[in-house]
Amino acid sequence: MTEYTKEILIQNYTDPCPNCGFDLDGGDVYESLRKHYPDYTEEKAKDIASAYGWSEENKKRSSKKVGIYDIDSDATIFYACPKCKAVFK
Ligand SMILES: [Zn+2]
Repeated sequence: MTEYTKEILIQNYTDPCPNCGFDLDGGDVYESLRKHYPDYTEEKAKDIASAYGWSEENKKRSSKKVGIYDIDSDATIFYACPKCKAVFK
C-alpha cells in the first residue's frame, strides 16, 4: 500500500523540479522554524533544527518535495513536485 504524505524533507536539496523547474528549496531549516514559530526562543529553534541535522556549520535546507511513502517497505520510495505533480526519485 502506498500512501501520499507531505513531510519535511531535509537534505540540502535546492535543485528545481526536474519536470517544470518549480523552486523546491524550502529554505534554511532554522530560519523556517523562527518564521513559523515566532514564540520559540533562539535556543529552542536551534535545538529543534539540530534534530534535523542542522548546525551553524552545516545549515541544512528543507525541500518542498512531497514524499511518497510505501507502507510495506516503510520507506519513501518516490518524490513528487507539489506544483506539476511529476514523480521522480
Ligand atoms: Zn514540477
